[in-house]
Amino acid sequence: MISSVLPTYSRAPMQFTKGEGAWLIEADGRRFLDMGAGIAVNVLGHANPVLVQALTQQAQNLWHVSNLYNITQQQALADKLVAATFADTVFFTNSGTESCELAVKMARKYWYEKGEKERVEIITFEGSFHGRSSAGIAAAGSEKMIKGFGPILPGFVHLAWNDHDALEAAISSKTAAILIEPVQGEGGIRPVPTQCLQGLRALCNKHGILLILDEVQCGVGRTGKLFAHEWAEITPDIMMVAKGIGGGFPLGAVLATENAASGMTAGTHGSTYGGNPLGCAVGCAVMDAVNTPEFLDNVIQKAAQLRQGIANLIYRHPDVFTGQRGLGLMIGIQCKVSNLEVVKAAYDACLLTVPAGDNVVRLLPPLNLTNDDIAHAVAKLDQAAATLK
Ligand SMILES: *Cc1c(COP(=O)(O)O)cnc(C)c1O
Repeated sequence: MISSVLPTYSRAPMQFTKGEGAWLIEADGRRFLDMGAGIAVNVLGHANPVLVQALTQQAQNLWHVSNLYNITQQQALADKLVAATFADTVFFTNSGTESCELAVKMARKYWYEKGEKERVEIITFEGSFHGRSSAGIAAAGSEKMIKGFGPILPGFVHLAWNDHDALEAAISSKTAAILIEPVQGEGGIRPVPTQCLQGLRALCNKHGILLILDEVQCGVGRTGKLFAHEWAEITPDIMMVAKGIGGGFPLGAVLATENAASGMTAGTHGSTYGGNPLGCAVGCAVMDAVNTPEFLDNVIQKAAQLRQGIANLIYRHPDVFTGQRGLGLMIGIQCKVSNLEVVKAAYDACLLTVPAGDNVVRLLPPLNLTNDDIAHAVAKLDQAAATLK
């Protein structure tokens, strides 16, 4: 008999009842260190008092009003994002995949309004992930995500991850945009090298096409910059955001330059909940906490510490781990044994990690984890690895 919850996830047998900082407490009382943070969502940890305060204070005043009216908290968060980034304008969504939908619509509308109605193609890359909506699965294009779901949204060109020549050859008079994650998340924590991001920007400039960055997983302080593309000193035309921006409250956004957004006039897009007062009040508190030099420097320091601990682990367990990669607190440990076995062994040691593509175990901890949390995570991974030889 089918479970009352649609069985699209194979769930681990844990059920958490409370969170505190980087820790989750299971119904039976066990304490798990959360190095997954709801897949890069809980950037300030669980039950962060500042976010609890922002949410409860807003909840006492106003939960929802329609986008037919001006929403104070939405305006405030848009102003913060515009001040902190390349963007001139922001549309709020409730998730990453909704941000993908708008990014694709925006890029196509841009060319439509310029009279180039054939320019609908968006170039994407193997191993990418852009969410589970129709545009999201069409963009990623993997068999696993699209098979059985009928006609796929047309207009995506899928290229190999690292093939510069193929990229240049794929650009045509039909190309509207290139869409890429600066650090591929689900695909196995694969950072796009700085010179490749710069090359992509240059290529887009040369052909006059739009660069869309999917920073749903790597954005909001995760890599030690507010957004990961800042490491390459480039800017996109359109950027997708979600996950960390709400710190655990469902919130997403599409950021764009005035030029890229020029086709999106009144009536061309909308959302009932997108930009609601609750989400945006929390988003403002997240931005205030994350977007300071001290906070971002601390992410870089914590990442260095964690990376060093992992380097030790790899040295101690060459039969289990083969290497690590990533940027900031977005870390992938490449495994010799099955990554699922490592994740399972870590569960048994009360440590939460997340599997990713390319046989990688992902660590995406809360960005404010403590030194003790880092030491604990490394010790538990050591314990887990010891069970796998
Ligand atoms: C998680 C993710 C998405 C989809 O976000 P949802 O909120 O699950 O819709 C899109 N892109 C990237 C890079 C992601 O990591």
